Amino acid sequence: MASRRRLRPWKDVTHDGLQTVHVVPVNDLRAHRERGTSCWCDPKLERLDRGVLVTHNSMDGRELIEKFGLM
Ligand SMILES: [Zn+2]
Repeated sequence: MASRRRLRPWKDVTHDGLQTVHVVPVNDLRAHRERGTSCWCDPKLERLDRGVLVTHNSMDGRELIEKFGLM
């Protein structure tokens, strides 16, 4: 099954020298902000050794489909 997300290692370095890595839903209904750690979708933030993993939430709710198998 094809992944509905893409991993985008972003060369965005924050003021304290950390990189942010974004996981963004592909072809979502609304564009996500792939700089910094804030976005309209209230992304989940996870601290990595050298940065922050920013997992964005889709506008169309596909995470619920992936999580609960709803179609
Ligand atoms: Zn987002």
